[in-house]
Amino acid sequence: MSSNTSDFYFGACPECRKPGHYLNVRKAIWFVCDEHKKRWSGGYGLFSSWYSENEEIWERNQKLLATYDECEPYYPDEPYYPDDPECEPDYPDDHVLDEDADQGEDFDTVD
Ligand SMILES: [Zn+2]
Repeated sequence: MSSNTSDFYFGACPECRKPGHYLNVRKAIWFVCDEHKKRWSGGYGLFSSWYSENEEIWERNQKLLATYDECEPYYPDEPYYPDDPECEPDYPDDHVLDEDADQGEDFDTVD
């Protein structure tokens, strides 16, 4: 059995405690367990994969989701927060806007 708890970032099926997989309905994300017909919300617009899908897929997903029970997802006892440096916004310290750069210039003295 996998010990990679990052799989549980979006929760898991309360029945089998497997992370399941997700379906997009436009930008809405639903995680599902096909085995137990459970679904739980995965948020909105987090993944860009919806962009490459179309109405046909979303309609199919929506119909499938309608047959699943909405539930509270299972989370492992110890939440896992991935320590991913790429998640940290990087603001360089020396990025200071030089707002006064073009002020005070006098372009009327062309003559
Ligand atoms: Zn399940």
